[in-house]
Amino acid sequence: VSAPFPFHPRLAEHALVRLHAVAGEEIVVIHDGRSGDLHRMGSHEWDLISSADGTRDLDGLLLAASRRDAYRRASEVRAVLDHLHAAGLLAEGVDYPDPTPPVVDRPLDVLPDYSLTCDATGGCCGVYGSIVFTPLEAARARSTLPLVRNGGEDPRRAFTPERGAGDEGSLAVALVDNRCAYLAEDGRCGLHVKGGASAKPAGCRIYPATFVDDGASIRVSVGVECGCVLASIGWPGGAPLVPEGARTRADLDRGARVVRLPDHLAVTADRSVSPAELAAWSRVVLAAGPPADAVHAFWSLAAAVEAEGLALEASLRALSSPPCPTVNDVLPWIQALADRAASRVGSAASWRSAADRSLLLSRAIAAASASIRDPGSLAAALAAAPADPAAEAFYLRAAIHGHHLAGKVPLALALRDRALRVLVARAMGAMDPAMVHPLAAVEAIFRGHGVEVYALEVGR
Ligand code: SF4
Repeated sequence: VSAPFPFHPRLAEHALVRLHAVAGEEIVVIHDGRSGDLHRMGSHEWDLISSADGTRDLDGLLLAASRRDAYRRASEVRAVLDHLHAAGLLAEGVDYPDPTPPVVDRPLDVLPDYSLTCDATGGCCGVYGSIVFTPLEAARARSTLPLVRNGGEDPRRAFTPERGAGDEGSLAVALVDNRCAYLAEDGRCGLHVKGGASAKPAGCRIYPATFVDDGASIRVSVGVECGCVLASIGWPGGAPLVPEGARTRADLDRGARVVRLPDHLAVTADRSVSPAELAAWSRVVLAAGPPADAVHAFWSLAAAVEAEGLALEASLRALSSPPCPTVNDVLPWIQALADRAASRVGSAASWRSAADRSLLLSRAIAAASASIRDPGSLAAALAAAPADPAAEAFYLRAAIHGHHLAGKVPLALALRDRALRVLVARAMGAMDPAMVHPLAAVEAIFRGHGVEVYALEVGR
């Protein structure tokens, strides 16, 4: 039975509205954060319904649209709302988010022996589907560069709500061929050039550092989503992941987003652990040292976790000389991944421009996955020596130290998924030797463009 049409329609929190300029054409895309589906509309339709924040009935929405000179016919507004309702993107009334839990100060546990050297070419500013600003950061950006999309005069040209509709909360910047609207042609951040580093949003200043609170400390690590992260391995003298002298959470930039681990973390479909158990396990895994082959290590650890949870001895045994996974075990995974990657490319190619870097990388991932989806090619890929063992070992170290594998899917699935990511990155490198650090591209596209949900599908 479908839900009744809401009396006070609100664009749901999982509706992510993004402004895109695609090869010169303005479009609005609504990503369904739950299903991964995508809905396109023109900026006029967005004008009609952008006040649907649960405080207005249909007459109120018509009035708000007419104030923006967007209103033409009531039936037009109703048609857009009907479409969103049928897609499960409307909710009833005002959203009352859970109160933010009090911030607890904890010591920082920073990934050792690492600093980041950014090449300042803006590669990461053109990959993601969401680049988030606080309202203050957006106001500052609009005053620093008012002519960018004419945002100084009309904020709605440069920003949409990060989630749902309405005027409250964080904002997502408009994307031009998927590049941040404030990215200059020369690849430098226009806000940084004009106003200094503090003119950028905190998320950009802090990227790609990650912060996870496990109840005892804040694990500080780095998301391996940018080639610079891997290029920085073994190069001292880059920027530290936290400000010099920072000891506790209170010393972090106020914009640092600290994720709190839940009290119960699924490690398999029917087993969960506490954050303290995960923290202890991660220390033991890291102490085992860098793996010779990250694919084998991730896969072997997954098997140990499935069999014995986070029993430390079992995980250590799994890492001591991890066997090569069998083709039969990995085949369903690579096939599910190849299908998911191909379907993402199909939907992205229908509206993204040829200049869109996320589309180019998605195509490379889909091609690489397809190249090893038959048993013979997969067997060869599994047996091949790693092309960049230092990068792959760092990837494992950063993920385990930063608790990156906890949360979205059970840990055992996350470990298998990471084995697949490394495998696909190797295949990308084999197909295009000129591609530098394919593993970073895989990471960015998997998280930023919803490829990662394949792991849930294959894990069912
Ligand atoms: S604000 Fe600057 S650093 Fe951030 S994504 Fe845009 S161009 Fe890149």
